[in-house]
Amino acid sequence: MRFSKAAVAVRYSIYETLFAGKVSDEMKQGMIDFHCDVLAKLLTGEAAGFKGPVSAGLDVTWERLQQADALLQTFAVYIPEQLDYSVQNLLRAVDHFYQQVLTCPEIMFVRSTEELRACAQAGRTGAVLAIEGAESLQGDLALLRVLYQLGVRSLGLTWNHANWAADGIMEPRGGGLTGRGKELVRACNELGILIDVSHLSERSFWDTIELTGRPVIASHSNVRSVCSHPRNLTDDQIRAIIMQGGLIGLTYVPWFVKSEGSARASDLFSHIDYICKLGGADNIMFGSDFDGFGQHIAGLANPGDIPAFIDELEKRYGKELTHRWVQGNAFRFLAENLPEH
Ligand SMILES: [Zn+2]
Repeated sequence: MRFSKAAVAVRYSIYETLFAGKVSDEMKQGMIDFHCDVLAKLLTGEAAGFKGPVSAGLDVTWERLQQADALLQTFAVYIPEQLDYSVQNLLRAVDHFYQQVLTCPEIMFVRSTEELRACAQAGRTGAVLAIEGAESLQGDLALLRVLYQLGVRSLGLTWNHANWAADGIMEPRGGGLTGRGKELVRACNELGILIDVSHLSERSFWDTIELTGRPVIASHSNVRSVCSHPRNLTDDQIRAIIMQGGLIGLTYVPWFVKSEGSARASDLFSHIDYICKLGGADNIMFGSDFDGFGQHIAGLANPGDIPAFIDELEKRYGKELTHRWVQGNAFRFLAENLPEH
Protein backbone atom coordinates (compact mmCIF):
# COMPACT_ATOMS: atom_id res chain seq x y z
CA MET A 1 0.00 0.00 0.00
CA ARG A 2 1.30 3.46 -0.90
CA PHE A 3 0.42 5.24 2.33
CA SER A 4 1.82 4.29 5.71
CA LYS A 5 -0.40 4.41 8.78
CA ALA A 6 1.74 7.26 10.12
CA ALA A 7 1.13 9.33 6.99
CA VAL A 8 -2.59 8.77 7.27
CA ALA A 9 -2.51 9.78 10.92
CA VAL A 10 -0.81 13.04 9.95
CA ARG A 11 -3.35 13.72 7.21
CA TYR A 12 -6.24 13.14 9.58
CA SER A 13 -4.83 15.42 12.19
CA ILE A 14 -7.45 17.81 10.78
CA TYR A 15 -10.04 15.99 12.90
CA GLU A 16 -7.91 16.44 15.99
CA THR A 17 -7.21 20.08 15.12
CA LEU A 18 -10.88 20.81 14.64
CA PHE A 19 -11.95 18.91 17.71
CA ALA A 20 -9.23 20.31 19.97
CA GLY A 21 -7.44 17.04 20.53
CA LYS A 22 -10.32 14.59 20.67
CA VAL A 23 -12.39 13.00 17.94
CA SER A 24 -15.93 12.53 19.21
CA ASP A 25 -17.07 8.95 19.82
CA GLU A 26 -20.46 10.12 18.60
CA MET A 27 -19.19 11.06 15.14
CA LYS A 28 -21.01 9.26 12.32
CA GLN A 29 -18.92 6.59 10.60
CA GLY A 30 -20.81 6.64 7.32
CA MET A 31 -20.52 8.47 4.03
CA ILE A 32 -20.20 12.09 3.06
CA ASP A 33 -22.18 12.23 -0.21
CA PHE A 34 -21.84 15.39 -2.25
CA HIS A 35 -24.80 15.17 -4.64
CA CYS A 36 -28.43 14.09 -4.64
CA ASP A 37 -31.57 15.38 -6.33
CA VAL A 38 -34.12 14.89 -3.53
CA LEU A 39 -35.21 18.54 -3.77
CA ALA A 40 -36.06 18.18 -7.49
CA LYS A 41 -38.44 15.30 -6.70
CA LEU A 42 -40.03 17.29 -3.88
CA LEU A 43 -40.42 20.21 -6.28
CA THR A 44 -42.15 18.18 -9.00
CA GLY A 45 -44.26 16.26 -6.48
CA GLU A 46 -42.69 12.89 -7.38
CA ALA A 47 -42.29 12.56 -3.61
CA ALA A 48 -44.37 14.29 -0.95
CA GLY A 49 -41.83 14.37 1.85
CA PHE A 50 -38.38 13.29 3.08
CA LYS A 51 -39.33 11.22 6.15
CA GLY A 52 -41.91 8.51 6.73
CA PRO A 53 -44.39 7.05 4.22
CA VAL A 54 -44.62 10.33 2.26
CA SER A 55 -41.00 9.80 1.15
CA ALA A 56 -42.06 6.94 -1.17
CA GLY A 57 -40.47 7.66 -4.54
CA LEU A 58 -37.17 8.91 -3.08
CA ASP A 59 -33.82 7.10 -3.07
CA VAL A 60 -32.42 9.29 -0.27
CA THR A 61 -34.74 9.44 2.73
CA TRP A 62 -34.21 10.41 6.34
CA GLU A 63 -34.55 6.78 7.43
CA ARG A 64 -31.95 5.53 4.93
CA LEU A 65 -29.43 8.23 5.89
CA GLN A 66 -29.82 7.14 9.53
CA GLN A 67 -29.55 3.47 8.57
CA ALA A 68 -26.32 4.28 6.71
CA ASP A 69 -24.94 6.34 9.63
CA ALA A 70 -24.37 9.13 7.06
CA LEU A 71 -22.04 11.91 8.17
CA LEU A 72 -23.18 14.45 5.58
CA GLN A 73 -25.42 14.75 2.53
CA THR A 74 -25.41 17.59 0.02
CA PHE A 75 -28.87 18.50 -1.35
CA ALA A 76 -28.81 20.17 -4.77
CA VAL A 77 -31.47 22.52 -6.05
CA TYR A 78 -31.93 21.26 -9.60
CA ILE A 79 -34.88 22.62 -11.56
CA PRO A 80 -36.07 19.80 -13.88
CA GLU A 81 -36.43 20.72 -17.54
CA GLN A 82 -40.25 20.47 -17.49
CA LEU A 83 -40.39 23.41 -15.04
CA ASP A 84 -39.56 27.12 -15.58
CA TYR A 85 -36.21 28.43 -14.45
CA SER A 86 -38.07 30.98 -12.36
CA VAL A 87 -36.88 32.50 -9.10
CA GLN A 88 -40.12 31.17 -7.59
CA ASN A 89 -39.25 27.56 -8.43
CA LEU A 90 -35.73 28.08 -7.12
CA LEU A 91 -37.03 29.43 -3.82
CA ARG A 92 -39.68 26.70 -3.60
CA ALA A 93 -36.92 24.08 -3.78
CA VAL A 94 -35.01 25.93 -1.03
CA ASP A 95 -38.23 25.97 0.99
CA HIS A 96 -38.54 22.16 0.63
CA PHE A 97 -35.02 21.88 2.04
CA TYR A 98 -36.04 23.98 5.06
CA GLN A 99 -39.49 22.41 5.54
CA GLN A 100 -38.79 18.76 4.76
CA VAL A 101 -35.09 18.13 5.38
CA LEU A 102 -33.94 20.50 8.11
CA THR A 103 -36.98 19.71 10.29
CA CYS A 104 -35.95 16.04 10.62
CA PRO A 105 -34.41 14.90 13.89
CA GLU A 106 -30.64 14.26 13.77
CA ILE A 107 -30.22 16.48 10.69
CA MET A 108 -28.08 19.58 11.07
CA PHE A 109 -27.56 22.43 8.61
CA VAL A 110 -23.86 22.78 7.74
CA ARG A 111 -22.91 26.24 6.42
CA SER A 112 -19.57 26.79 8.13
CA THR A 113 -16.55 25.06 9.63
CA GLU A 114 -18.07 25.79 13.02
CA GLU A 115 -21.29 23.95 12.12
CA LEU A 116 -19.34 21.10 10.50
CA ARG A 117 -17.44 20.60 13.74
CA ALA A 118 -20.58 20.85 15.89
CA CYS A 119 -22.41 18.37 13.65
CA ALA A 120 -19.61 15.78 13.83
CA GLN A 121 -19.17 16.24 17.58
CA ALA A 122 -22.89 15.83 18.22
CA GLY A 123 -23.07 12.68 16.06
CA ARG A 124 -25.61 14.21 13.71
CA THR A 125 -26.02 14.03 9.92
CA GLY A 126 -25.00 17.26 8.20
CA ALA A 127 -26.99 18.76 5.33
CA VAL A 128 -25.30 21.08 2.82
CA LEU A 129 -27.40 23.16 0.43
CA ALA A 130 -26.18 23.43 -3.18
CA ILE A 131 -27.47 24.65 -6.53
CA GLU A 132 -27.05 22.64 -9.72
CA GLY A 133 -27.23 25.02 -12.68
CA ALA A 134 -27.24 28.83 -12.42
CA GLU A 135 -30.17 29.12 -14.87
CA SER A 136 -32.68 30.42 -12.33
CA LEU A 137 -30.31 33.06 -10.98
CA GLN A 138 -30.97 34.81 -14.28
CA GLY A 139 -27.69 36.71 -14.18
CA ASP A 140 -28.58 38.45 -10.93
CA LEU A 141 -25.73 38.44 -8.40
CA ALA A 142 -28.02 40.03 -5.79
CA LEU A 143 -29.95 36.75 -5.89
CA LEU A 144 -26.67 34.85 -5.37
CA ARG A 145 -25.99 36.90 -2.23
CA VAL A 146 -29.53 36.22 -0.94
CA LEU A 147 -29.02 32.51 -1.61
CA TYR A 148 -25.78 32.64 0.35
CA GLN A 149 -27.78 34.11 3.25
CA LEU A 150 -30.21 31.21 2.88
CA GLY A 151 -27.27 28.85 3.31
CA VAL A 152 -26.25 27.87 -0.24
CA ARG A 153 -22.60 26.82 -0.12
CA SER A 154 -21.98 25.13 -3.49
CA LEU A 155 -22.92 26.09 -7.05
CA GLY A 156 -22.71 24.13 -10.28
CA LEU A 157 -22.55 26.79 -12.98
CA THR A 158 -24.57 24.80 -15.53
CA TRP A 159 -26.57 21.66 -16.04
CA ASN A 160 -26.04 20.02 -19.46
CA HIS A 161 -26.96 22.99 -21.67
CA ALA A 162 -25.83 26.59 -22.13
CA ASN A 163 -27.07 29.32 -19.82
CA TRP A 164 -26.22 32.98 -19.15
CA ALA A 165 -23.08 32.03 -17.22
CA ALA A 166 -21.48 29.23 -19.24
CA ASP A 167 -21.94 26.32 -21.64
CA GLY A 168 -22.68 22.85 -20.30
CA ILE A 169 -21.10 19.68 -21.63
CA MET A 170 -23.97 18.78 -24.00
CA GLU A 171 -24.07 22.21 -25.67
CA PRO A 172 -22.80 21.52 -29.22
CA ARG A 173 -20.98 24.86 -29.65
CA GLY A 174 -18.74 24.07 -26.66
CA GLY A 175 -18.31 27.64 -25.43
CA GLY A 176 -16.77 28.70 -22.13
CA LEU A 177 -17.68 31.19 -19.40
CA THR A 178 -19.51 34.37 -20.43
CA GLY A 179 -18.50 37.74 -19.01
CA ARG A 180 -21.33 37.44 -16.46
CA GLY A 181 -20.25 33.87 -15.76
CA LYS A 182 -16.79 35.14 -14.84
CA GLU A 183 -18.38 37.65 -12.46
CA LEU A 184 -20.38 34.77 -10.98
CA VAL A 185 -17.21 32.74 -10.30
CA ARG A 186 -15.54 35.75 -8.64
CA ALA A 187 -18.65 36.43 -6.55
CA CYS A 188 -18.75 32.79 -5.37
CA ASN A 189 -15.07 32.99 -4.43
CA GLU A 190 -15.69 36.16 -2.41
CA LEU A 191 -18.82 34.89 -0.67
CA GLY A 192 -17.45 31.42 0.15
CA ILE A 193 -19.63 29.38 -2.22
CA LEU A 194 -17.82 26.32 -3.62
CA ILE A 195 -17.69 25.99 -7.42
CA ASP A 196 -18.88 22.66 -8.80
CA VAL A 197 -17.51 21.82 -12.28
CA SER A 198 -19.57 18.67 -12.98
CA HIS A 199 -21.69 19.24 -16.14
CA LEU A 200 -19.45 22.04 -17.49
CA SER A 201 -18.24 22.05 -21.10
CA GLU A 202 -14.50 21.47 -21.33
CA ARG A 203 -13.92 25.12 -22.20
CA SER A 204 -16.06 26.30 -19.28
CA PHE A 205 -14.07 23.94 -17.05
CA TRP A 206 -10.72 25.41 -18.11
CA ASP A 207 -12.02 28.99 -17.92
CA THR A 208 -13.16 28.27 -14.37
CA ILE A 209 -9.87 26.65 -13.36
CA GLU A 210 -7.96 29.65 -14.69
CA LEU A 211 -10.16 32.16 -12.92
CA THR A 212 -11.06 30.65 -9.57
CA GLY A 213 -9.02 31.56 -6.54
CA ARG A 214 -10.29 28.51 -4.65
CA PRO A 215 -10.15 24.77 -5.30
CA VAL A 216 -13.12 23.36 -7.22
CA ILE A 217 -15.17 20.20 -6.81
CA ALA A 218 -16.63 17.90 -9.43
CA SER A 219 -19.50 16.69 -7.24
CA HIS A 220 -20.72 13.84 -9.46
CA SER A 221 -18.40 12.80 -12.32
CA ASN A 222 -16.26 9.75 -13.06
CA VAL A 223 -13.14 9.06 -15.16
CA ARG A 224 -13.49 9.35 -18.94
CA SER A 225 -10.47 7.11 -19.63
CA VAL A 226 -12.31 4.32 -17.79
CA CYS A 227 -15.82 5.02 -19.11
CA SER A 228 -16.02 7.18 -22.19
CA HIS A 229 -18.96 9.48 -21.44
CA PRO A 230 -18.74 13.27 -21.96
CA ARG A 231 -19.97 13.84 -18.37
CA ASN A 232 -16.82 12.12 -17.09
CA LEU A 233 -13.51 13.92 -16.54
CA THR A 234 -10.49 13.74 -18.86
CA ASP A 235 -7.05 12.95 -17.43
CA ASP A 236 -6.03 16.62 -17.78
CA GLN A 237 -9.14 17.74 -15.89
CA ILE A 238 -8.44 15.23 -13.11
CA ARG A 239 -4.82 16.42 -12.90
CA ALA A 240 -5.98 20.06 -12.71
CA ILE A 241 -8.40 19.28 -9.85
CA ILE A 242 -5.64 17.39 -8.01
CA MET A 243 -3.18 20.27 -8.53
CA GLN A 244 -5.71 22.66 -6.99
CA GLY A 245 -6.47 20.47 -4.01
CA GLY A 246 -10.04 19.99 -5.23
CA LEU A 247 -12.33 16.97 -5.00
CA ILE A 248 -13.83 14.45 -7.41
CA GLY A 249 -17.11 12.87 -6.30
CA LEU A 250 -17.40 9.46 -7.93
CA THR A 251 -20.97 8.82 -8.98
CA TYR A 252 -23.22 5.76 -9.27
CA VAL A 253 -24.99 6.62 -12.53
CA PRO A 254 -24.57 3.27 -14.39
CA TRP A 255 -23.68 4.79 -17.77
CA PHE A 256 -20.97 6.98 -16.15
CA VAL A 257 -19.50 3.88 -14.47
CA LYS A 258 -19.33 1.41 -17.36
CA SER A 259 -19.75 1.89 -21.13
CA GLU A 260 -21.04 -1.59 -21.96
CA GLY A 261 -22.91 -4.27 -20.08
CA SER A 262 -24.52 -3.80 -16.70
CA ALA A 263 -22.42 -1.95 -14.13
CA ARG A 264 -21.68 -3.38 -10.70
CA ALA A 265 -20.58 -1.53 -7.56
CA SER A 266 -17.11 -3.05 -7.96
CA ASP A 267 -16.79 -1.36 -11.38
CA LEU A 268 -16.19 1.87 -9.44
CA PHE A 269 -12.85 0.40 -8.33
CA SER A 270 -11.40 1.02 -11.82
CA HIS A 271 -12.25 4.74 -11.45
CA ILE A 272 -10.70 4.86 -7.99
CA ASP A 273 -7.55 3.04 -9.18
CA TYR A 274 -7.18 5.40 -12.14
CA ILE A 275 -7.43 8.57 -10.04
CA CYS A 276 -4.95 7.10 -7.54
CA LYS A 277 -2.57 6.36 -10.43
CA LEU A 278 -2.75 10.06 -11.35
CA GLY A 279 -1.85 10.93 -7.75
CA GLY A 280 -5.36 11.74 -6.53
CA ALA A 281 -5.91 9.46 -3.53
CA ASP A 282 -6.50 12.58 -1.43
CA ASN A 283 -8.97 14.01 -3.94
CA ILE A 284 -11.55 11.21 -4.10
CA MET A 285 -15.00 11.41 -2.52
CA PHE A 286 -18.47 10.26 -3.57
CA GLY A 287 -21.43 12.05 -5.14
CA SER A 288 -24.12 9.42 -5.66
CA ASP A 289 -26.54 11.47 -7.82
CA PHE A 290 -29.31 9.47 -6.09
CA ASP A 291 -32.76 10.68 -7.15
CA GLY A 292 -31.22 12.13 -10.31
CA PHE A 293 -31.57 8.98 -12.46
CA GLY A 294 -33.87 5.99 -12.67
CA GLN A 295 -31.95 2.82 -13.37
CA HIS A 296 -29.57 1.94 -10.54
CA ILE A 297 -26.50 -0.24 -10.24
CA ALA A 298 -27.39 -3.45 -8.41
CA GLY A 299 -26.22 -2.96 -4.82
CA LEU A 300 -26.06 0.83 -5.13
CA ALA A 301 -29.74 1.80 -5.28
CA ASN A 302 -29.98 4.07 -2.25
CA PRO A 303 -28.04 5.11 0.91
CA GLY A 304 -29.20 1.89 2.62
CA ASP A 305 -26.74 0.03 0.33
CA ILE A 306 -23.75 2.19 1.29
CA PRO A 307 -22.60 0.27 4.41
CA ALA A 308 -22.17 -2.89 2.29
CA PHE A 309 -20.34 -0.85 -0.37
CA ILE A 310 -17.99 0.53 2.32
CA ASP A 311 -17.31 -3.08 3.39
CA GLU A 312 -16.39 -3.93 -0.20
CA LEU A 313 -14.05 -0.93 -0.36
CA GLU A 314 -12.40 -1.93 2.92
CA LYS A 315 -11.84 -5.46 1.71
CA ARG A 316 -10.04 -4.21 -1.36
CA TYR A 317 -8.24 -1.09 -0.15
CA GLY A 318 -8.07 -1.40 3.64
CA LYS A 319 -9.63 0.77 6.31
CA GLU A 320 -7.44 3.91 6.09
CA LEU A 321 -7.83 4.58 2.37
CA THR A 322 -11.51 3.71 2.48
CA HIS A 323 -12.07 6.10 5.37
CA ARG A 324 -10.34 8.84 3.43
CA TRP A 325 -12.63 8.41 0.40
CA VAL A 326 -15.80 7.82 2.38
CA GLN A 327 -15.48 10.88 4.60
CA GLY A 328 -11.92 12.05 5.37
CA ASN A 329 -11.09 13.89 2.12
CA ALA A 330 -14.45 15.67 1.92
CA PHE A 331 -14.42 16.52 5.61
CA ARG A 332 -10.96 18.06 5.39
CA PHE A 333 -11.93 19.96 2.22
CA LEU A 334 -15.04 21.40 3.85
CA ALA A 335 -13.08 22.28 6.98
CA GLU A 336 -10.62 24.20 4.83
CA ASN A 337 -13.02 25.78 2.36
CA LEU A 338 -16.29 26.58 4.11
CA PRO A 339 -16.56 29.98 5.78
CA GLU A 340 -15.40 29.76 9.39
CA HIS A 341 -18.66 31.03 10.94
ZN1 LIG B 1 -26.24 16.32 -12.34
